[in-house]
Amino acid sequence: MSQALPYLLHSEVLKERFGKKVFKVTLDAGFDCPNRDGTKAKGGCTFCDASGSSAQITPPTTSLTEQLEQGIARWKARYGNKAQKFIAYYQAFTNTHAPLDRLAEVYEVGLKHPEVVGLAIGTRPDAVPEKTLDLLSDIARRKYLWVEYGLQSAHNQTLEFINRAHTVEEWSDAVQRTQRRGIEICGHLIHGLPSAPGQMETPAMMMESVNLMARSGVTGIKIHSLHIVRGSIMAFQYKIGDIPMFSMEAYVGWVCDSLERLPPQMQIHRLTGDGLKHLLIAPEWSRDKRVVLTAINKEMASRGTVQGAKYLPNTATATR
Ligand code: SF4
Repeated sequence: MSQALPYLLHSEVLKERFGKKVFKVTLDAGFDCPNRDGTKAKGGCTFCDASGSSAQITPPTTSLTEQLEQGIARWKARYGNKAQKFIAYYQAFTNTHAPLDRLAEVYEVGLKHPEVVGLAIGTRPDAVPEKTLDLLSDIARRKYLWVEYGLQSAHNQTLEFINRAHTVEEWSDAVQRTQRRGIEICGHLIHGLPSAPGQMETPAMMMESVNLMARSGVTGIKIHSLHIVRGSIMAFQYKIGDIPMFSMEAYVGWVCDSLERLPPQMQIHRLTGDGLKHLLIAPEWSRDKRVVLTAINKEMASRGTVQGAKYLPNTATATR
């Protein structure tokens, strides 16, 4: 745990492992998503915009090698000598949704770069057949690797309403098959999701999602607040009043409740969203990440609590 923070930051774990601060370079390898191209469904998750929930700033038309070099150059321009180690983060859309030879070619860009110390691959739980996991196992033997699987909610009713086009059970199955190969996993949750028109998940539902994640064996977690962005289906649903919004105070409370329920060794990758600000419609307060993080840290301090304070490894919900 960081000396200053009552939770275990993933960035601190990376720093300890590699002896220096490690910088992430986000990449768009030009993949599509099974939830958009018809493989599984069409239309995509209702909160997703046309960029595939990417925070990447280099145009995706740039070659992958150029994207990586430009991303590294940006970090070096900002941090000078301190920026020497990088993670190639395959973020946009579904980064295992292609034939194996194409995947191998794409991952090789990160694998062969001398300053890239690891790869992060964002994907969906229904896009990792056994042969793809075998390929990821080979990569994990060559360089540090983690895979990211969005769950968002442990409630199939919510997943259906937001058109995730996968179930909680599919997520758990992918996690187990990935863990069997010894690959690290980061899971994603979104707090404040709607479970039906005009109805937000209750805090108890959100904590059930946290409990599932806490006992799933994933090594890391990203928690976001729901973001309504331009170009998403949810932007329209929000306009017609079908998506309830929530305050920063409520979100901060849910995050602190979540941290208390997560195991102390789970790495915290993110506690607030990092999307493209020009696309954001709501919630307005989420524009300033620092304000949200400061409020979370303040609330943890005022509760006198730490990550894991209410973690219960063995309860009935562990099997969900
Ligand atoms: S799985 Fe990811 S890329 Fe695909 S529609 Fe959902 S958020 Fe967008």
